[in-house]
Amino acid sequence: MRRVLYLARSRTYQKMTARPARPVFDKEQLDSLLSRRFFVAPGFEIYAGVAGLYDYGPPACALQANIVDQWRKHFVLEEDMLEIDTTIITPAEVLKTSGHVERFADWMCKDPASGEIFRADHLIEQVLEARLKGDKEARGESVHESPDDTKKRKAKVKPLKLDNAVKSEYEQILAKIDGYSGKEMGELIVQYSIRNPVTDKPLEAPQEFNLMFDTSIGPTGAIKGYLRPETAQGQFLNFSRLLEFNNNRMPFASAQIGKSFRNEISPRSGLLRVREFLMAEIEHYVDPETKSHARFNEVKDVKLCFLPKDTQEAGKTDITELTIGQAVEMGIVDNTTLGYFLVRIHQFLVKIGITASKLRFRQHMKNEMAHYACDCWDAELQTSYGWIECVGCADRSAYDLTVHSKKTNRKLVVRENLEQPRVYHEWEGQINKKVLGPKFKKDAKAVEERLLAMTQEEMERASQTGSVSFDINGQTFTLNSEFVTFIKVTRKESVREYTPNVIEPSFGIGRILYSLIEHSYWSRPEDSQRGVLSFPPIIAPIKCLLVPLSGSPEFIPIVKHWAATLRNIGISNKVDDSSANIGRRYARNDELGTPFGITIDFQTVKDKTVTLRERDSTTQIRASEIDICQVLQDLTGGKVTWEQVVQKYGEFQGQSLD
Ligand code: AMP
Repeated sequence: MRRVLYLARSRTYQKMTARPARPVFDKEQLDSLLSRRFFVAPGFEIYAGVAGLYDYGPPACALQANIVDQWRKHFVLEEDMLEIDTTIITPAEVLKTSGHVERFADWMCKDPASGEIFRADHLIEQVLEARLKGDKEARGESVHESPDDTKKRKAKVKPLKLDNAVKSEYEQILAKIDGYSGKEMGELIVQYSIRNPVTDKPLEAPQEFNLMFDTSIGPTGAIKGYLRPETAQGQFLNFSRLLEFNNNRMPFASAQIGKSFRNEISPRSGLLRVREFLMAEIEHYVDPETKSHARFNEVKDVKLCFLPKDTQEAGKTDITELTIGQAVEMGIVDNTTLGYFLVRIHQFLVKIGITASKLRFRQHMKNEMAHYACDCWDAELQTSYGWIECVGCADRSAYDLTVHSKKTNRKLVVRENLEQPRVYHEWEGQINKKVLGPKFKKDAKAVEERLLAMTQEEMERASQTGSVSFDINGQTFTLNSEFVTFIKVTRKESVREYTPNVIEPSFGIGRILYSLIEHSYWSRPEDSQRGVLSFPPIIAPIKCLLVPLSGSPEFIPIVKHWAATLRNIGISNKVDDSSANIGRRYARNDELGTPFGITIDFQTVKDKTVTLRERDSTTQIRASEIDICQVLQDLTGGKVTWEQVVQKYGEFQGQSLD
């Protein structure tokens, strides 16, 4: 096809097509749209549904597929990652070793009167926020209602002025809410008389609840298993194969897209907190000595919004805007690999349509960090539910590879030939087993193991004093040079062996999808009932609508021809040949986020030209089939903007359709 040249966007045109100021976001209207147009429905709805389980309808399915497709291009292809697909059902032993069986838990509080269960941190947050709102109301200030405050759930708080000191205590607790231990939350619940927000009945102290769904594998039930709570473990267990596949070269990354499962305590935030969700995870393996990224220079000047842990620990939520280069230099972000991925996450989210001003990176506080992480930054998106973690970017250090290697006795390491052999000296203990065995009899094995576990410092001290003493199970053993001698030996290493560290960007696709829907939603000022979802063309579920102006027979083959032609060039399309007026047909598809519409009219029958309409501005151009196809390919491939297209073809004013 002929390539068209596009002119730069002109100022006059920008003015002409600038989207009108959006009315206030209406969550109820958006929810109604999502349900009416079958983006999403409660799972098992006709059986009354189960909290935290949802089904995606056709538009959300296509949207999810497009997000995943962009994710693959942005990360797997661009960064040359190794994508794998590992099983969901996981033997218990694996998750015991990884620490999930013991520690992958949240804190819950039970109302003994009603049996109702609350997630402790969410409850404290809900009650304190409601009290602060009550204070605002009492002072006559305007109050924002979050959708979490449903009628049923709304904390029963009368407008009541709070003491300034109490208010500031509440604000500090809220800033640190993600960092409290179970015990601390129990203390807060007592100190601030936090009760069941609906019934005002007292609650039991917080208890830990493991979030994994368990199952058994096979008919005997002998093999206990779990549905995986993250896709990461399958990647770690394949580390050696992946390294070999990568010709033993470091650094490298594996990636996996798949479902994960978490038995959330009381999911009440729609699509944001569900019990089964799609994740896309990257495990990037780095040399622990440098943790550097070769492409950091390409992104070092990109500015991001940070909420570091120190700020939160001081009870504040102020944002620090810095380039990633500055953040790494100042030690706010620990290393260039972590920094590189924070920028790549930002770029991905903005590319798929997330509003940049509603994106921040929040660092985890010490208490909040998952058991495997030594540093973690969340990409949080602002929604009507507040700031929501949508991507976690954790430094898992060598934790997972080390624990799995210890448990299985399989080396999960990198071996690198050194250009210059490394020569070094170290202490070595030489055990005289002939005298050790007969002397210590049944304790000999434990004594020998303890000797073998001695540190360099312990051996150096023992060589100076001539003996070594230690306790084993409450019994003291002292050994002199008759049993063990310590000498300094010279070693030469031509291979360096190390366990790599892992930087893990972990994406919750469902949370991103929902936040994107909120960020894209608006309604036309002239009619607040006309909702529009302004998805970028690369992400939109359906790219083009085909609307014949008439149902007369000569239109039928033309519509068929257009549908087939667009299909052939990879542009998903939908025909709306209903009898509704054309404006109504376009409005219906604005709700689905369809960015472009082709109108087939009586002029088309004569000269084969059609009009192409853009969703947000509702402006049109008119051109031949060959030009329209090329324009659509360029627009949906993100190569040109609509403004550039209008600049080239001129706005068509022939029919007013909206
Ligand atoms: P985490 O391993 O807890 O850091 O979670 C990684 C990502 O998974 C988060 O950033 C979320 O986007 C997503 N996620 C975690 N829990 C849920 C949930 N219950 N529902 C939906 N997405 C979730």
